[in-house]
Amino acid sequence: RSKRAGKGIYTLYDRSMHEDLTQRMLMDKHLRTALDQDEFSLYYQPQLSFETGQIVGFEALLRWSSPELGNVPPNLFVPVAEDNRLIISIGEWVMITACAFMKDLHNKGYTECRISVNISVIQMAQDDFISTVLDILEDTGLAPSFLELEITESIFMDSYEIIIYKLEILRSLGVRIALDDFGTGYSSLSYLKQLPISTLKIDKSFIDNLPDESKNRSLTEAIIVMGHKLGLEIVAEGVESYKQLAFLKESGCDHIQGYFLSRPVEESQVPVLMEKY
Ligand code: C2E
Ligand code: MG
Ligand code: MG
Ligand code: MG
Repeated sequence: RSKRAGKGIYTLYDRSMHEDLTQRMLMDKHLRTALDQDEFSLYYQPQLSFETGQIVGFEALLRWSSPELGNVPPNLFVPVAEDNRLIISIGEWVMITACAFMKDLHNKGYTECRISVNISVIQMAQDDFISTVLDILEDTGLAPSFLELEITESIFMDSYEIIIYKLEILRSLGVRIALDDFGTGYSSLSYLKQLPISTLKIDKSFIDNLPDESKNRSLTEAIIVMGHKLGLEIVAEGVESYKQLAFLKESGCDHIQGYFLSRPVEESQVPVLMEKY
């Protein structure tokens, strides 16, 4: 399966691997023109506070509608955009659009609402990452405390000391940092010590079979207690049922996000949600 296999390599690929490669090459090709041709949009998914029963913020989720490939989910195209580094310009577009959206919502009277934006490690590794974020905040007029950057443990890939340093600077300026998909991957506990985070997002895989599955129940409760002892706000991701909601409320979780409240919606639907909750 490796490149070193040399001749006869195709016999080692199964069909799905080959299709996967073709898919990636097609995405790579069409991603190059996608930004110029206005093929991206953002959807917004609300996060609800148990304390107030109100929406405290929205996560911006990227959508790509390609004339050639149709609607491609971010789990498929973001890795390709990371490989060809287009995620730098796409991510900048996401942050500008999301911050302008939130400033607009503030102007409509919802002055306490926050926006969460997913950030790729490739973006954070850019030398001008901090000034890019600060410029966008200044240009859109959004105060730093209303922007939350969602990062994952993938930042621990390489030169992560510099990235942590950048996050510390942004945090000290008031920008919030959320650790996304918490609990998946490797040695997550050491990240809590090293990262200047304000929010923990418990991964959907822990939430899925609550409250029936006893191990996930214990883990979720433990994550909430531990997070609170570290002064963090806890968000549960992927909440789909009332049973899950009730358990999370009982366990002291701060915020929930998921289809039970709302799927990600387009911008025009956001005021409707603000009125509903
Ligand atoms: P994520 O940041 O963990 O986002 C949560 C994902 O879970 C979203 O999928 C959301 O639509 C989905 N979700 C939310 N509630 C529920 C639920 O109750 N049930 C189920 N089944 N799913 C739920 P989406 O929008 O397809 O995004 C997938 C991933 O793509 C995101 O995971 C994030 O890692 C990445 N992504 C999305 N937008 C961006 C972006 O602007 N930049 C970067 N770098 N990555 C992005
Ligand atoms: Mg996220
Ligand atoms: Mg997540
Ligand atoms: Mg994810």
